[in-house]
Parts: sequence; C-alpha cells; structure tokens
Amino acid sequence: STAAPPSLAEARATLERVWGHAGFRGLQAEVVAEVLAGRDVMAVLPTGGGKSVCYQIPAMLRPGLGLVVSPLIALMTDQVEALKQQGVAAARLDSGVSLDDRSEIWRAARAGELDLLYVSPEGLAQPHLIDRLHDLPLSLIAIDEAHCVSQWGHDFRPDYRSLGRLAELFPGVPRIAVTATADARTREDIVRSLRLGEARIVVDSFARPNLQLAAVRKENASRAKTDAAVIDLVRQRRGKSGVVYCGSRDGCERVAHALRDAGTNAIAYHAGMEARDRDRRLERFLAEDGAVMVATIAFGMGVDKADVRFVIHADPPGSLEAYWQEIGRAGRDGDPAEGITLYGPSDIAWTLRRLEGSPMAGEVKAVQVRKARQLFAMLDGAVCRPQAVRRYFGETGAEPCGVCDICQDPPALFDATVQAQKALAAVQRLGERFGRGRVVDHLLGKTKDAQPWETALSTWGVGADTALHTWRDVIDHLMFEGLLVEDPNEGKPLVMLGDPEAVRAVYRGERAIEVRRQPARAGASR
Ligand code: ADP
Ligand code: ZN
Repeated sequence: STAAPPSLAEARATLERVWGHAGFRGLQAEVVAEVLAGRDVMAVLPTGGGKSVCYQIPAMLRPGLGLVVSPLIALMTDQVEALKQQGVAAARLDSGVSLDDRSEIWRAARAGELDLLYVSPEGLAQPHLIDRLHDLPLSLIAIDEAHCVSQWGHDFRPDYRSLGRLAELFPGVPRIAVTATADARTREDIVRSLRLGEARIVVDSFARPNLQLAAVRKENASRAKTDAAVIDLVRQRRGKSGVVYCGSRDGCERVAHALRDAGTNAIAYHAGMEARDRDRRLERFLAEDGAVMVATIAFGMGVDKADVRFVIHADPPGSLEAYWQEIGRAGRDGDPAEGITLYGPSDIAWTLRRLEGSPMAGEVKAVQVRKARQLFAMLDGAVCRPQAVRRYFGETGAEPCGVCDICQDPPALFDATVQAQKALAAVQRLGERFGRGRVVDHLLGKTKDAQPWETALSTWGVGADTALHTWRDVIDHLMFEGLLVEDPNEGKPLVMLGDPEAVRAVYRGERAIEVRRQPARAGASR
C-alpha cells in the first residue's frame, strides 16, 4: 500500500493511551521511529529501559501481525498476559497451548485481529509454522534477548542460531533485535548471525546513577560465615524489598530459612520448585511489603518490580553481563538502591569447575571461562564499579560514579608483579601438587617436614621478605585473575597454573599485577 507510515506522534499517543507513560525514555523514540519506517534496527537498551514497547507499539500501528521470538515460555506468558490486560491483541504459541487455542489464534491472525504473536525459537523451527506465517502479512519480526544468538554472549541458545534465516524467509519485513547486554564482540556476532548488516544500531547508556554498588570479599570459604554476613546485610535493610541471589538451590533454601529465623519476610525461589509453587512465591514477593526473594538465577528475567531496594549476591554471578543484569533489578523506579556482591576465591574455583564439567562446546566454554575471570577481576579490582562495567560494554565516556565502594573509599594498591612471578614459579616447580597453604609455606621457606628435593628448589624461601597475609592476598588475587586455579583433589584443592598465555605475560614482565592492600586485620601476623 502507499499509505504513509505511522508517525512517532501516533506511537507516543499509543504509549500514553495503553501504558499510561507520558513520553518515550532514553533512545526508545529513535528505535521506534526506525521500525515504524520499516527499517531493521538493533537496540541495546539497559535492563528496565523499556525494550518491549519498542516493538510492541510498531506492531500495533503497522498493518499486519508482529512476530516476537522470545527465549523463555515464562517471559512470553508474562508479556502476553500483561498485553491482553491492557487490551492489546496478543497471543503466544508454545508447547503448552491446546489445539483448539491454536486454531483460534490462526483464525484471529488471518482475520487481521492479532497484533502480536509470541513464539519460541524451537517453535519457529517447525516448517508448518513458517508456512502459516507466509500466508499472513507481517508488520515486523522482533527478536527479544538477542544476545542469546551469540556464543560470545552470556546466555547462548543454540536454537537462536537459525533465526538468521528469517531475513530470507521474510524479505521486506523489518526486523528488530533487542538486548540489555552485549559487549562489542557479542554485538558484532548478533549483527552477523541475524543478518542485520543494514540495521541501525542504537546503544543507550548503561548508566544507573541511582545504584550504589559494592563488592565484599568473603572472609573465608565457610558457608556459615557467608550466611551470617548476608543475614546482617539484610537485617540492616529491614522493611525494604530485596533480592538475594544464591549459587545453588541448597544455598537458597538455607539462606531463606536463616533469614526467616532472623525475622525477615524471606521467600525462597528456584527451578527445583513446581511452576505453580514458584508463581505463588512470585506473587507474594510482588504483593508483600519488605519481602526478600532468596533466589537462584531461575528468578529474574521479566520480573518487573519497580521498588526493589537492594540486590545482594551471596554468591557471585558468572559474568559481568549477568552481574549488571542482576543488580539492575534494583531501583527500577529510579530511587536509590544498592547492589552488594560477596565474592571469594572459592567462588571462582567453583565457577571454573562447573564450567569445566559442563557439556558446552569447547569454544563456548572458553568464552564463559574468560567472562568469569573478567567478573572476578572487576570484583577484586580497584576501578569504579559502574565505570568498569560500562567500559566493558563499550561505553567510552563513562565517568567514575562517585558513590560505589571504590569511589567512596579508594583501596590502596601495591605492585605485586615480582611476588606474582615468584608465586607462579613456586607453583610450577612444586609440580602443581600442593594446596595454597603449602605453596605459601614454601615461598616463606617454612614448610614443616620439607623434603630435601623441595628445599633444593630455587623457589624455596624466595618470598621470605613478604608477610604471610600478603602472600595470601597475592595468591587470592592471582586466582581472581585466573593466573592460578584451584583444582579440587580429594577434598583439598591443589593450586595449579591458569591461563598459560597470561602466566607467560607475567613471567616476562609484560603484565603488571596490582593487589589491593587489605585493611589491617586482627591476627595478621598469624
Ligand atoms: P526491559 O525489557 O527493557 O527490561 P520493559 O520493557 O520490561 O524493560 O520495561 C520496564 C518497565 O518500564 C515497564 O514497567 C514498562 O512499562 C516501563 N516503561 C517502558 N517505557 C517507558 C516509558 N517511556 N516511560 C515510563 N515507563 C516506561
Ligand atoms: Zn564508583
């Protein structure tokens, strides 16, 4: 048809009429304008930035059916239910939809009564679905959580790989890919995989000025101490709504239990619970004042609660992307909110071990391992938290935030390059056969019952000029940077050399190692 494309003014009117929002935020208007004009676009907007209306509104205003590809049934269900309640003609096709409902959906689509149809990538892989869609005019194709297409991203879904062929299957239909997290490499991969070469790429700032971030080093690997620290943090925020992320289902149940004992309205949430039970828990979290969700990462995508005042990681996430997304669930209303991450050397060991044992393809695994190390290097580093993350996402102009733990109380650093070289050499000479205590004793030349072969090594006692607690900090830091790894062996973890490239760079003095001076502690000379 020759009708003029719908205008941005109409889009604004729809935003106000259907959602009650006064105007577009951030770069939403730019994204919407591109899609309204029928052009491809990739939108990188931060969590809470309002990515969904960027395709929902054009789908309502442009003639034809808007197809939305979404990775999670739960996410789809939430969005479609919310749209229906707002009077938008939306439906979803997933394995849970009955045959009768399916025929009704297709009838409505053919009659032009449907604005939005949500499908999963697996669903889209079925030829008959494509055939049916071919018979219909499409207003647009939206690909939600587009980072799932890239194995450089933090949430790779093989099913997403085939979405690139939508470009040929539906030529002339504008496509919009949206994601909250994509570093430069992932972005390139999304463009290539989804064949969005002609697309305008819109990247909004990732700044979240109302978030106050901190990372807290765990005292030691003791669960009880970590749990106690989490309980203290939550108690200090009594009455506020928050999320506590735990790395395992067990941990999640345990911490929730302890928090309830401490008088907090804590609700456990993880994938081991039945869907109906989870829904009930989510409803409570949304409805009750001061509720604290204690959850694994099963909780989050698509959860829209504006007044979450804090997010605490009892265990750190697996990447900077996941970190930003998870702490990003705090303070969506724009009021001050906190993100606090507890981390320790045993966490990176655990993360690496889990990745090692996972069935991912080698290349994907290597990317995930690198991402985990980047996260831990940030947590144990001395760069303003939001600045470090925004730079990682490719934002060049990010300034220090002024409110995070690093900005408020800049840690003192010392150059530990020489110590790092000594420690790496010691681990190598010792044959990667000992735990960290023995490695430190060796460096100090204080190993009890040291064998003659050990005292004959060039690294024996080579670190006697450095205090025991400093050695511990150096070795911990080398773990965080992935230069050393702890390999579990019959209970006692052995210290081994990490990434060989990085280790060589330190040996050659091409890579400097800076370690945070830990605040003086009681019994430091122990
Ligand atoms: P994202 O998917 O980017 O995390 P959503 O699309 O779920 O974000 O939107 C987050 C919240 O912001 C929703 O409650 C949504 O209604 C709201 N929102 C979206 N656009 C605007 C806007 N222009 N003004 C105010 N609120 C908005
Ligand atoms: Zn800062």
